[in-house]
Amino acid sequence: MAQFLTVCFLYVLTLLYVSSRSIHKSNSETPTFDEKNRDHWNLQAQWILRTKLASPLNTKVAKNVILFLGDGMSITTLAATRVYLGQKYGHLGEELKLSFEAFPYTGLAKTYCVDHNVADSACSGTAYLTGVKANSGTVGLSAAVKRGDCKGQRDGIHSVTGLMDWAQKAGKGTGFVTTTRVTHATPAASYAHSADRRWEADSDLPKKGLRCEDIATQLVKGQVGSKIDVILGGGRRNFFSKNQKDIEGYNGYRSDGVDLIREWKLKKEALGVSPKYVYHKAGLLSLDENHYNSVLGLFSPDHMPYHLEAGDDDPTLSEMTQKAIQILKKKKNGFFLFVEGGRIDTAHHETKTRKALDETAEFAKAVEAALRLVDLQETLVVVTSDHSHTMTYNGYSKRGTDILGLANKMNGSDNMPYTILSYANGPGYKPDDQHQKRHNLAFDNLSHINYTYPALVPIARETHGGEDVAVFARGPWAHLFTGNYEQNFLPHAIAYAACMGPGLTSCK
Ligand SMILES: [Zn+2]
Repeated sequence: MAQFLTVCFLYVLTLLYVSSRSIHKSNSETPTFDEKNRDHWNLQAQWILRTKLASPLNTKVAKNVILFLGDGMSITTLAATRVYLGQKYGHLGEELKLSFEAFPYTGLAKTYCVDHNVADSACSGTAYLTGVKANSGTVGLSAAVKRGDCKGQRDGIHSVTGLMDWAQKAGKGTGFVTTTRVTHATPAASYAHSADRRWEADSDLPKKGLRCEDIATQLVKGQVGSKIDVILGGGRRNFFSKNQKDIEGYNGYRSDGVDLIREWKLKKEALGVSPKYVYHKAGLLSLDENHYNSVLGLFSPDHMPYHLEAGDDDPTLSEMTQKAIQILKKKKNGFFLFVEGGRIDTAHHETKTRKALDETAEFAKAVEAALRLVDLQETLVVVTSDHSHTMTYNGYSKRGTDILGLANKMNGSDNMPYTILSYANGPGYKPDDQHQKRHNLAFDNLSHINYTYPALVPIARETHGGEDVAVFARGPWAHLFTGNYEQNFLPHAIAYAACMGPGLTSCK
């Protein structure tokens, strides 16, 4: 949190500098700006303009690339998280920026899949990681393969690779970090080819018919997966037998009896690199990055816990991101790192908005942690999302109203209160408890971390949303990311900046 606050305060300090005349102290002694003074707004806008005019385009080669992906991090989620974080630290909130919202270049990406109007993480991941749009539920395969088509997967001709593969071929170090299972759809799209995102372990494969290679096996033995230097996240159970227990006493999930963690170590040793497997926070933080070139960290049997529910053994997204960079930074040709804040999405699916905003705040902290460790003149940093959600931000409360609370002094035409944040569908649907009236939210405990925010339509898991997602970029060739484009453009632009991949590059 200290890191995020630094960004807030840097921003505030800058405003202090340019608009010192418009500052006053409020009754509560919290420093605020006099937003009623026109100078406040004019000076602030002039300062932004000056900054833009003074910034030359960076057309250097991007030696390093870090791609951050907030799963399900809609633009509404960003707007709400600013307020959530700001209010946590005594500000009104709306006026603040998340770390990456200060990046100089932004764009909008269209996220639909080839077969569905609203993307899932699998088709979307395939688009922004490999440059090819795909069918819903599939990873690392073109849209010639339908979900569940094992033969199409096995044929191989429809397999697509992208940033991870291109970076490896360019001699760069590669890694990924996620708060979900490392075999979940989003990270899987960076290294696997699977006709169904659910085929994470062999036990997930259909019992009859053709057998396809599961995603965990592809991570350890696959052409791209086996060359990844740093893998940090959850999902340990997919790597060992259901007849065995891990060090924390959890059973594995594999039916084939294979110990993929052991195989990963042996494979890395055979390649001549010194590998290290870690499974808790202390092991990760004490790991000597100068000693190990390849690290597998599996910190949880399933997804990693939400930050609000994490224990002492669970590393934060920032800690994983920092360690990954410290390991990869040693590579003389640079590196490609993919970082996913994966629990924003799962919290939205449950309409547990407090968790979704908190996970987004953690994601913003991880971006800031990364910025501190790299040379921004030679590191391209891109932050985006894979799809939206149905959460909406309702008017018209007074400035500074608790973003997770009820709309301030506003009722519906039924004379009942409503929340500032609510969903178009999801498990937060509240059945009418007074015949023909909405559920009365006035007596709900909105401060509980598992409170399910109201939804219009009852559905067990809230759905994704279909509007565009934001893209934020800084570093070499960051100006390429402006405009509105198909999501599969992203890896093409990244590859251009980093001089890798089969397409156009800034070096050719
Ligand atoms: Zn989702």
